[in-house]
Amino acid sequence: MFDRKTIRDVELEGKHVLVRVDYNVPVEDGVVANDRRIRASIPTLRHLLGHGARPTLCSHLGRPGGEPDLELSLKPAAAALEELIDAPVVFMDDCIGAGIDTAVEKMNPGILLLLENTRFHPGEKKNDPELARQLARPHDLFVGDAFAAAHRAHASTVGAAEQMEAVAGFLMEREVEGLTALVEDPAEPFVGVLGGAKVGDKIGVIRRLMRSLDRLLVGGGMANTLLRARGVAVERSLIDEDSLGEAEALLEEFGDRIALPVDAVVAPEPDQECEARTVGIDNVPQDWRILDLGPETLDQYQRVLESAGTIVWNGPVGMFERDAFSAGTRRIGRLLARVDAYTVVGGGETGQALDRQNVGEALDHVSTGGGAFLEFLEGKQLPGLAVLEPRA
Ligand code: ADP
Ligand code: MG
Repeated sequence: MFDRKTIRDVELEGKHVLVRVDYNVPVEDGVVANDRRIRASIPTLRHLLGHGARPTLCSHLGRPGGEPDLELSLKPAAAALEELIDAPVVFMDDCIGAGIDTAVEKMNPGILLLLENTRFHPGEKKNDPELARQLARPHDLFVGDAFAAAHRAHASTVGAAEQMEAVAGFLMEREVEGLTALVEDPAEPFVGVLGGAKVGDKIGVIRRLMRSLDRLLVGGGMANTLLRARGVAVERSLIDEDSLGEAEALLEEFGDRIALPVDAVVAPEPDQECEARTVGIDNVPQDWRILDLGPETLDQYQRVLESAGTIVWNGPVGMFERDAFSAGTRRIGRLLARVDAYTVVGGGETGQALDRQNVGEALDHVSTGGGAFLEFLEGKQLPGLAVLEPRA
């Protein structure tokens, strides 16, 4: 059960509501290139508008380093949101100040305000109380709906929320419920698929998941690092040098439940895909790189996934951005879409990989979070969630 108050539990009529969304989306040539996170915020915004609230939205985008950087303006998100929600969205070119206070005060029902990137102010990442106070000033209620930013205690995720009544939006609720099912009593066999670039970022989550995982299937740079730790000559494959010691420790402790690739798609360089070939894992040609799982490995992983009760997947199992090395990641995505298990996927690049395939709808939960997803699974408290009022 979700243990925080939500927008269902409070009076909304006429309220000036500050909604922390996560619109940290890819923008290309001034246009939002992937609107998944914006789409995910729509149920909350519809509910607020439908109940007479006046929503003002704030978010960060990228890493502007505490000063305005027009490349990282949220303006493109206003256009994308307007298309999705079918209500006027007024974009404000700052997130605090007298102009914002007046605009919020005078706001007509039925419209939304979107504030400029909160990280244009150095106080955002420092959770500066003055910035938090100014963000909060014209509002009566805080709605935390930025699950993907909830692992950061910043002015717009935590500081502003502390200044007024603060409740969860529907996305926050849906994320927590979707992921709680993995931590509390997952249907067995519980299988994890982990890939991606680094091991270092994911050690905590692996250790935590290994308490309940029956089997961990590994791909990507993560597999390369574990293979290297086991003494396989991975040649020039991407590995996480700094985590080789940890990798050895993980194999030592959990090796009997960890599955590693038995074959791989390799190439001399990622851009020399014409030379790509499949080899047994002990036969990576000198100076070549492992760039995707091989078919024999995928067959083995498929059998495990087909009999799973619960599956969690994070991290592409190959360099999926290139077609020649995307087969493994695609096949995992297709499999998860058709198996009976309760399926959850999270991670920035993993989400992108799914979007390319359009299989997200068929999964039980696709998290909008990267870091927040991993920290939640690790059992860490998310400050942006903890700040919301507990349900009585
Ligand atoms: P996520 O954001 O979903 O948690 P990561 O950030 O950990 O995932 O890693 C994603 C990146 O890992 C992708 O850009 C992908 O190209 C890369 N990757 C996966 N496998 C390999 C590989 N074998 N060689 C090089 N890069 C890889
Ligand atoms: Mg990533």
